[in-house]
Amino acid sequence: MIPYARQDISNEDVKTVEDVLRSDWLTQGPVLERFENALTQACGARHAVATCNATAALHLACRALGLGPGDRLWTSPNTFVASANCARYCGAEVDFVDIDDRTYNMSVEALADKLESADRQGKLPKIVMPVHFAGQSCEMRGIGRLAERYGFHIIEDASHALGGSYLGEPIGTCTFSSVAVFSFHPVKIITTGEGGAVTTNDPDIAERIRLLRSHGISRDPRSWTHRGHGAWYYEQHDLGFNYRMTDFQAALGASQLGRLKIFIERRRELAARYDQKLHQRNLIVPWQHPDTQSAYHLYPIRIANGSIPDRRAVFDGLVEAGIRVNVHYIPVHLQPYYRALGFAPGVCPRAERYYQEEISLPMFAALNDEDQHQVIERLVRLLG
Ligand SMILES: *Cc1c(COP(=O)(O)O)cnc(C)c1O
Repeated sequence: MIPYARQDISNEDVKTVEDVLRSDWLTQGPVLERFENALTQACGARHAVATCNATAALHLACRALGLGPGDRLWTSPNTFVASANCARYCGAEVDFVDIDDRTYNMSVEALADKLESADRQGKLPKIVMPVHFAGQSCEMRGIGRLAERYGFHIIEDASHALGGSYLGEPIGTCTFSSVAVFSFHPVKIITTGEGGAVTTNDPDIAERIRLLRSHGISRDPRSWTHRGHGAWYYEQHDLGFNYRMTDFQAALGASQLGRLKIFIERRRELAARYDQKLHQRNLIVPWQHPDTQSAYHLYPIRIANGSIPDRRAVFDGLVEAGIRVNVHYIPVHLQPYYRALGFAPGVCPRAERYYQEEISLPMFAALNDEDQHQVIERLVRLLG
């Protein structure tokens, strides 16, 4: 069986986790701080705050930017449901901006059009959340220009994109955004089991997210509104959560982060081989915008609607051969939860058509050449 994605755990990873498990400190502690510092280095941002998963990080990023009832967040329909759900946790409304036909990322033109009409109706979003689909950055310069014009905040959902870059800078540098969010779920670029993080250059946002990550409790006497009663004293200043990452997860993350370059190189190598072997076939390989260097979390191909065999037949044929491909994504607005909020087919036609045609081929650093060869062979045979 060849999965579409899986983690790569080394003996060194296991050893560093074991060391923490045998230490005095299991929950958030000194190793977490080290992991966060390593993340700021890898991403080129001033601050990093790690959390129990990326969904929690998205939620805290929305909260830190003041998203609440009556506000709107816009995101891409071609994403995991968490990109939209984080706004619903805050009581805000969600809307979707259709994708670009070549990158499958939020289309800057579609965003500009939607902003123009929202402006006329007085219904501008407070936050726009581009998602760096498959590890390829969105066109952040264009989105950043629109943010200046219309006054919204940008949260990058970079769950797929650790190790990718845009205009020569690592994703997570936050040149065009307030916050970037990463996921360390086992299918992503590096893993901590469950885990996530934000990066930001804004010290106030970082501080707010740190506070909300741990119940809204402050142990810093300078922030207290009362005088301390003794060494045990702390104050709760906001309604926060327990969204902390454990120290043994952070140890795994730090160890994994040390191999980020190797992971990304391998993913790019695999992508180049897929590109080379598949580009003349009856399918579309993922196009790369010249401003970006993808982290290749996914390798999404398209089998054009109406081809024989169709996407479903190709998908089933691969699964039958023990190749556990996947589909990314069912457009979020077509999920029953969002349909119940009024969304229907036709809202984002390009994302809906893309969904009919997509298959995510196996793509992960531990995928070996023989297995990739088998995937290519089987796919080519199925396509006839
Ligand atoms: C994986 C993923 C998330 C959620 O990450 P978790 O760490 O599982 O909470 C959010 N957005 C996107 C685009 C993802 O792929």
